Amino acid sequence: MKTTFKKLFTFALAMSVVALFAQEKKSSHILITNVKVWDGTSENLIDADVLIKDNLISEVKKGIKAPKDIITIDGKGGTLMPGLIEGHGHLQMNGTSISDIENNRNWEELAVRSVVNAENALMSGFTSWRDAGGMGAGLKKTIDAGLVNGPRIYPSGGFIGPTGSHADFRNLTTPNETFNGPQSSGGRLGMSITADGISDIKAAVRQNFMQGASQVKIMSSGGVVSQFDPWQLDAYSAEEIRAAVETAEAYGSYVLSHAYSKKSIIRCLENGVKTIEHCFMFDGDVAALMEEKGAYMTTNMQAFSPALSQVSAISASKSSARKAESAQLAFENYVENVKKHRPKLGFQGDCVGMPEACNKQNDHQIYLGANFFGNHYYLKALTSVNGEILKLSGEVMDPYPDGKLGVIETGAYADLLIVDGNPLTNIELIGGNEKWFDAPVRDGIKGMKLIMKDGKIYKNTL
Ligand SMILES: [Zn+2]
Repeated sequence: MKTTFKKLFTFALAMSVVALFAQEKKSSHILITNVKVWDGTSENLIDADVLIKDNLISEVKKGIKAPKDIITIDGKGGTLMPGLIEGHGHLQMNGTSISDIENNRNWEELAVRSVVNAENALMSGFTSWRDAGGMGAGLKKTIDAGLVNGPRIYPSGGFIGPTGSHADFRNLTTPNETFNGPQSSGGRLGMSITADGISDIKAAVRQNFMQGASQVKIMSSGGVVSQFDPWQLDAYSAEEIRAAVETAEAYGSYVLSHAYSKKSIIRCLENGVKTIEHCFMFDGDVAALMEEKGAYMTTNMQAFSPALSQVSAISASKSSARKAESAQLAFENYVENVKKHRPKLGFQGDCVGMPEACNKQNDHQIYLGANFFGNHYYLKALTSVNGEILKLSGEVMDPYPDGKLGVIETGAYADLLIVDGNPLTNIELIGGNEKWFDAPVRDGIKGMKLIMKDGKIYKNTL
């Protein structure tokens, strides 16, 4: 009996030491001092210290007393702000165009390139990323497991669109025994899904959620760089949009839709789509309906850049160039309308490519958005508004349900940046660049001194 008791006691002691060790290893506190804080929403910076416990922000106030054995970061007078959030990106769409991806890249190359893109996104300050189509949850799971570095990912699965739409990756020589997507390489890889009619659309939405999507993306209007569809096309009927929305809502989640034309935008909003992507024909009617429905929009600002015609996917194809020209004419009131109505606008990079091209494109878009609408409005688009958009995936499907995103407040995820100055007056600190194609190739962003995601430091040049 005695020996058994002794053995049990030793075992219990050993276990409590193991438990203590595990606890000590797990619980880490970081105190950030000597910073001004931009919290993701306010118009001004505030004076405060920020305490981080594990992966969440536990306190924001001036003069926090440092608990024992804490790691302290001296912010050297810089600005602490939320990590940036991509509202509409495509990590796996990493060729120069849809046809390049379709014809020249196999799964292995696409996957490895997506890892490179994810790491580059994080090192450019993007700590969260809504992937707006082209991949399931494989890369996300690999990042979450700590095997590669990248942002938190909210995947949308394969794009869902009808035959001949912006989601149809086939080319004219693809055999057409049936009209279905898997004949394209993108379709076989699950990057795009061709779905016509209510039952196919419902199955496509369910398939995406099964593969780990947190929300789903439909193509309800035509595009500029796709081959078969005029941008003016109203690709999905009201019934088809509703079928996607009802199915996503059954999971507690939502639908985002690519929509250029006013008709398509209105149809999406009336049928329950929660975020309108691009939304180039935004005006007073759209603004009123968006407000009534509690909907959001994200727009790629490069559409309004004087350098747009230099985009290779546009300049390489006569039909795309013609489409881009007519689109720019039709979209000319967008900037004025956004200034007037101030909708809930999220940042959208929408880059299809690799780091060199995507950094140039995103930096230029950050500059354009801040230049059109002011730094404060556009910084919110890059942080708190996109944080709200990501959370539309609902309690059940949200892959990161423990805290808010895009804000600095108690209980939010510790996804933070320290920049060397005030981003409310200097947008270059987060990459903003007036130049697009002429910008130099960059490795990281000089003014971004610290990058933290989930309480873990990925860059520190303070
Ligand atoms: Zn896109």
